[in-house]
Amino acid sequence: MMSNISLSLDEIFILAKNVFFKNGCDEETSNIMADLVMKAERDGSLSHGLFRVPAYVSGLKSGKINGKGNPDIKIISASVVKANGNNCLAPVVLNKSIPELIKLAKENGVAILSITNSHHMAAMWPETEIIAEQGLVAIACTSYKPAVAPAGSIKPLFGTNPISFAWPRKNKPPVVFDMATASMAMGEVQVAKREGHKVPLGTGLTKEGKDTTDPAEIADGGVLLPFGGYKGSGIAMMVELLAGALVGDNFSYETAEKDNNDGGPPSGGEFILAISPDKLSDTDWDTHSSKFFDKMKSMGDVRLPGERRHKNRLDKGPRHINEDLVNKIKSLS
Ligand code: NDP
Repeated sequence: MMSNISLSLDEIFILAKNVFFKNGCDEETSNIMADLVMKAERDGSLSHGLFRVPAYVSGLKSGKINGKGNPDIKIISASVVKANGNNCLAPVVLNKSIPELIKLAKENGVAILSITNSHHMAAMWPETEIIAEQGLVAIACTSYKPAVAPAGSIKPLFGTNPISFAWPRKNKPPVVFDMATASMAMGEVQVAKREGHKVPLGTGLTKEGKDTTDPAEIADGGVLLPFGGYKGSGIAMMVELLAGALVGDNFSYETAEKDNNDGGPPSGGEFILAISPDKLSDTDWDTHSSKFFDKMKSMGDVRLPGERRHKNRLDKGPRHINEDLVNKIKSLS
């Protein structure tokens, strides 16, 4: 029987900060990463909080990730910001480049942030939500290493390729979705494996290409499927192109060829688009979209994406964390 221990949000931050600091990160990187991990636990983004810390440590220990690095941020044109991560962790690159993206999008109506050579394995709502909190619409995506078979194949080509969209609201939290284009994120499959739950049919295939509900058969040598059959496959392909060839970084299969397989997040790209509704719409877009959301929510058992996290966020109390995970992280500090 698995046991949990209670940790306050401050204790989660300190636990995470220590492990990043002791494994070669400078003070600033440790703070940015600990803040991200704490916020994931706070919001109930459980597959991307403390659960990911041991993998980050692997990447830091092998030297693949630069815990002290400084990304290069360049303004290429009125609407393009380019960030070369110099092998930093993506949250550090985002921390330095998103303010530039926001500035350009507010000035020009639209702006794109192209990120290369950075290491991403976190959730994506932190970046889209922070942009939407500034009154902008945001779309972000990144690829990873092959784990998802294109429609028609039983071999992986796409990463789990998350895409996040955030819509700003005045005086309310943004409406945000953040989802893997795999039927389930590999992080969730790993959590199901660790906790002994089955996964729905259609989540993935075994090594031999058979349907299965056993998360271990998918995580260990099997393959995930895209959500929604060939339609999800098209969106996963779009993510490969936007976060790969368009920003000037790798496709998932190239990422895998170059990675040292230390278990840490590989080097890759990220695409982020920010759009100003103030510039595009000559209507009161906030009232207009609020009416739409109200109508949507009045239609039965509908909730807006992001609402679960935002509700969790109101709880300032301790979080219940898997004890083995906490002990493992302490042993790495
Ligand atoms: P989920 O399937 O849990 O959720 C996807 C989205 O749908 C969320 O925004 C969620 O909002 C919303 N949602 C869930 N249930 C409902 C509902 N009943 N009604 C309306 N909206 C709903 O996420 P995934 O498993 O696909 O992804 C998990 C995380 O993994 C993401 O944060 C993703 O970025 C991350 N990831 C990161 C990768 C990387 O390489 N960096 C790779 C793959 C995934 P809410 O949060 O409010 O529940």
